[in-house]
Amino acid sequence: MSKQPVAPTATAAAGEVPMHLFRKAVEQAALAISITDAKANILYANGAFQRITGYGQDEVVGHNESILSYRVTPKLVYETLWAQIQRQRPWNGLLVNKRKDGSRYLADVTITPVVSEDGDTTHYLGMHRDVTEVHRLERQVQNQKTLIESVVDAAQVAIVLLDDKERVVLDNQEYKKLVSDLGKEPALKLLAALREQMGDAFAKAHDKHRNIAAREVCIETPKKTSRWFSCAISWFEEHDVGADAFYEPLRRHYLLLTIQDISEIKRQQEALRINSLRALLSEQERIQGLRETLAGAVYQLEGPLNMLSAVAAMMERRRDNGADLPAASALDEAMQKSREALETLRSCIPCQSNEAMQPVDLNEVLVDVLKLTTANLLSAGVVVEWLPSSGATTISGHPAQLTNLFKQLVSNAIEAMNERRGGTRELRLTCSTHADHIEIRVEDSGPGIADDLRYKVFQPFFTTKGAARQHLGLGLAMAQEVINQHGGTIDIDPAWRTGCRVRVQLPLIAGGSHD
Ligand code: FAD
Repeated sequence: MSKQPVAPTATAAAGEVPMHLFRKAVEQAALAISITDAKANILYANGAFQRITGYGQDEVVGHNESILSYRVTPKLVYETLWAQIQRQRPWNGLLVNKRKDGSRYLADVTITPVVSEDGDTTHYLGMHRDVTEVHRLERQVQNQKTLIESVVDAAQVAIVLLDDKERVVLDNQEYKKLVSDLGKEPALKLLAALREQMGDAFAKAHDKHRNIAAREVCIETPKKTSRWFSCAISWFEEHDVGADAFYEPLRRHYLLLTIQDISEIKRQQEALRINSLRALLSEQERIQGLRETLAGAVYQLEGPLNMLSAVAAMMERRRDNGADLPAASALDEAMQKSREALETLRSCIPCQSNEAMQPVDLNEVLVDVLKLTTANLLSAGVVVEWLPSSGATTISGHPAQLTNLFKQLVSNAIEAMNERRGGTRELRLTCSTHADHIEIRVEDSGPGIADDLRYKVFQPFFTTKGAARQHLGLGLAMAQEVINQHGGTIDIDPAWRTGCRVRVQLPLIAGGSHD
């Protein structure tokens, strides 16, 4: 059913509204409306005024508007109010009002002067509404914001909020410290590191605004040192507060990144790992020493025993020819006992560790070796150049044996350089990946090894260290044994003339990429 337009009444000319309609509209308005004389004495108050203040029409008419004043509003506010309305300008502000029952409320008041045709202010129109609840909510939001900001600021982890264009919209004190340490913008550097570490998984989580649990990432500082951080991502959804979005809510997603500096924990863990590795290697060295000593003793005894064997065989032949040799049986018995003693000695040689074969990253092994020998390298004043491989460096092997092997080679290099007085002391450690193997070179600037000794140094009991030697000369022989166990090769580069270059080649695990 269509509505018919209402025809204007006879009393109202075009564009005019009848007076009784004005009165009814004011009377029924939801705003508290009052009309006063020029001194704020109330002449009229509408229904909403009575509902809000608790005063009936009769109780307020004739009284000043100050009947509502709770007297905590500063005098200056009233002075400003009056100065404004006396200049015939409307005033708007907040006043603390008191109801008839004594309870207080916050009033959002607008006062408009009513000016006569002569230009005098004859009356004032007052309109106000109770905004106590709005104010309470605003304060609550403000308090919560302050609370959240103080908690975020006091947090021991760095916190940063990024908008959808990865611009920082909020951060805390710890994050600001990171900015001064790492330069701008640490959050972006860490996100890039996470992206690289997680690959597609990061992109998926990011696109679907899924949280990412704490992950450890390493980034390089401007001073070229490494810092470790544990980073977690969570999302915060904001509803647009603009008028446009009132009926059609717009959502914005913010990325909340929490960052914990774990460099110190990592450093301690690494120190602990290197210490346990050192303990493991020294145990291995002790066993190695025992192996060297017992193998040496067996080797030393084997010579005379072989000679005795030859004598016994000679006597045996003579006895076969009829000679009467009573000492022969005694010699046989002595030989028998000696062989048994030698076997007992041989069985006492401890075997190499029974460490399981496992994937071993040679770049990491060599870094460990440098850490283990740092003190020796520093005290010998050796300049170290470390060139890791950028290709695959994982082989199948015994990690502790390999670490010990390269530690032995580096220790040999330091000893060799210590033998030479003066001159530069340089150690270069190179790891390079080839089609089917990895080559490690240990180069030193020591006296080198003469051509005729290049193979001999790998023989058991051969040493170039003369009378003052501390070793039996089994170091390189044992190294050779470890290399053999790993299916690799070890040699001394004949073309290297400015010191010694030991080359080790170890087979790469199938599927590795080369430099
Ligand atoms: P007052 O002594 O009344 O006034 C304090 C200061 O206000 C004075 O020092 C003076 O500078 C100024 N002042 C007061 N009266 C006049 C005047 N007639 N001419 C010039 N300056 C003057 N107050 C409220 O607390 N709540 C309200 O809801 C409220 N609504 C109002 C609505 C209207 C339409 C008008 C005109 C005023 C309203 N007032 C309201 C103001 C009120 O009239 C008082 O000025 C105020 O309450 C302070 O009262 P008081 O007794 O504490 O101090």
